[in-house]
Amino acid sequence: MDIEKYLQLSAAQHSHLCPRQVLGVRMALAGIQALGLDVPPPRRRLLVISETDGCFCDGLIAVTACTVGHRNLRVVDYGKVAATFVDVETELAIRLAPQRDARQRAHRYAPEEPKAYSAQLIGYGRMPAEELFTFQEIQLHPNVSTLLSRPGIRVNCDRCGEEIINERQVLLAGKVLCRACAGEAYYAPVEPVALSTLFVPSQTLTVVNNGGA
Ligand SMILES: [Zn+2]
Ligand SMILES: [Zn+2]
Repeated sequence: MDIEKYLQLSAAQHSHLCPRQVLGVRMALAGIQALGLDVPPPRRRLLVISETDGCFCDGLIAVTACTVGHRNLRVVDYGKVAATFVDVETELAIRLAPQRDARQRAHRYAPEEPKAYSAQLIGYGRMPAEELFTFQEIQLHPNVSTLLSRPGIRVNCDRCGEEIINERQVLLAGKVLCRACAGEAYYAPVEPVALSTLFVPSQTLTVVNNGGA
C-alpha cells in the first residue's frame, strides 16, 4: 500500500515526520481495512477514537480525514499510541495498538539505519500490519449512538447552570448535572478569584472605552 502520500500529508501538517506519525498512518490504514471499508472510507461512516493526542493523531487524520470539528475523531487521553476504528453503520469496533516489541522489530526492517529513531521511522513504514499491531474487536462503552448523540439537544446543569449539549449530562440524585458538577471535573476552581488580576489593567480598558466613544 502506498503510504507515502499520507506521510507527506501528515508531515505537512506537522512540520516534520516522526515515528508516531508513521504509526498513525499505518494504524489508520490497517484499522479501516480491518473494518472492511475502503480508503478513504465513505463520508460519515467512520469514527476514530485515539488514546492520545500529539503526532500520532496527525497520522490518523492524514488517512481518515476525521477531525474533532467533524465529531468523528475523539481523543480519550490514556497516553497510549492506540486507537479504535468504528464503522458507524454496523457498529463494528476494532481497537489497534502497537505490538509490544514493535520498536525492536522495526530495526529488522531497516537494518541500514544505525539510529533507533530513523530505524523506527523507516521500519514502521515497511513492517506488515500484523507484525506492527494487535487487532481486537471491542464493544464501546457508551455505544455509538450515545457517543454521536443528536444535534439540537440542550439542558442546563442544575448546579452550575451552564448549558450541556450532546446529552453529556449526568443524572444524580434526581438532579441533572454536568460532568464537572457530578464529580468528574478535570479542574478545581481556585479561590478566591480576583477577576481584576485576570484581565487587562483597568487603565487600558479606559483608553479602549474612550476610543470607542
Ligand atoms: Zn512529531
Ligand atoms: Zn454543572
